[in-house]
Amino acid sequence: MTKEYDSAGGSIVAVDGLDLTIDDGEFVVFVGPSGCGKSTTLRCVGGLETVTEGSIRFGDEDVTDQKPKERDIAMVFQNYALYPHMTARENMAFGLKMSTELSSEEIDERVQATAEMLSIEELLEDKPKALSGGQQQRVALGRAIVRDPEVFLMDEPLSNLDAKLRAQMRTELQQLQSELDVTTVYVTHDQTEAMTMGDRIVVLDDGQLQQVGTPLECYHRPANQFVAGFLGSPPMNFLRVEADLEQQELQNAVFTLPLSESVATEIDSSELVLGIRPEHIELTDTPETHGEPSRLVEADVTVTEPMGDVTNVYLDIGGESVTVTTDGKTGASPGDQLYMHVPAAKMHLFDRETGEAIKHSDEPIDAADSPTATESTSPAETA
Ligand code: ADP
Ligand code: MG
Repeated sequence: MTKEYDSAGGSIVAVDGLDLTIDDGEFVVFVGPSGCGKSTTLRCVGGLETVTEGSIRFGDEDVTDQKPKERDIAMVFQNYALYPHMTARENMAFGLKMSTELSSEEIDERVQATAEMLSIEELLEDKPKALSGGQQQRVALGRAIVRDPEVFLMDEPLSNLDAKLRAQMRTELQQLQSELDVTTVYVTHDQTEAMTMGDRIVVLDDGQLQQVGTPLECYHRPANQFVAGFLGSPPMNFLRVEADLEQQELQNAVFTLPLSESVATEIDSSELVLGIRPEHIELTDTPETHGEPSRLVEADVTVTEPMGDVTNVYLDIGGESVTVTTDGKTGASPGDQLYMHVPAAKMHLFDRETGEAIKHSDEPIDAADSPTATESTSPAETA
């Protein structure tokens, strides 16, 4: 589907030819930076916006021209949108009263059962202003759940909560979704939410689909540099390099790294970007005894950021900044000269012009893809 908005300066393509099938019962997360078209997509699925081109189907049914209330959906938004003059119970019951033939006993039962599920039985007689943000969001969720819809549509539902509550609600929502087994489309700009909650994630940028896959597929096998840089915190490091295919080397002004023949044959442009995740770099101060000296790059420590379990070490490499996530007990401190080890198997390579991925890390992404399966080739050969 495509969605264009008319605006003063012409038309804006908010969603550009998005083509996607979501399975029954699946939890799919749309993720991307602000303005990439997540909410627009969700609003089109919900019928709050009409699509400019293309169609939307629920199962075999074409719902493209149906009004929101004709679609079997329930929505939850960031701003809970509860009716202020109604109690939590009335808020939850309201939609059922208006749009179903259920008796008031049946409605009461559903509201009660849902309130128990969400641990908000005690709050049912309270009005929204007496409730905390987290409690209001539970009532808003309850209002969606009592409708027992075919699809949940959620637009940044946890964004107004503080960090701790957000983490807790993330887990609860996931559990709830798998118990209810209702197809859910969830929108967030927060890559952590996407990584932790989605069965699959859909990465969007500028209205265009970048990648669809399981969180680990997208993390370890990013389709392009945008996805690689968007998922992960601290983000993947990128260094501009040239490929010298004759020498089988990657080069830039301050270092060279060996390139295996198998990777060299995949490369058809010499202008590349080397990508390496902070957790895949090792630091050493004893290059003489290192097992793979050809893969060491000299670096200056600029800042260290102890997080407790890990420490982020910021390096300067010929004027470019590189982040390394090390053990929390690292001895590195600003001013140190160290060497970073860039394991061949963990390198990503991207075409600098198109951003397309040329090589991925060999990190396993499912049980069948175990590390032992890739151990037979030496690191130098897999790069
Ligand atoms: P996201 O939810 O990913 O932050 P949106 O779907 O809200 O992004 O917006 C996508 C693009 O469409 C943005 O450029 C935004 O400015 C534009 N847009 C969204 N809603 C409207 C609207 N009602 N009228 C005009 N432009 C809009
Ligand atoms: Mg939005």
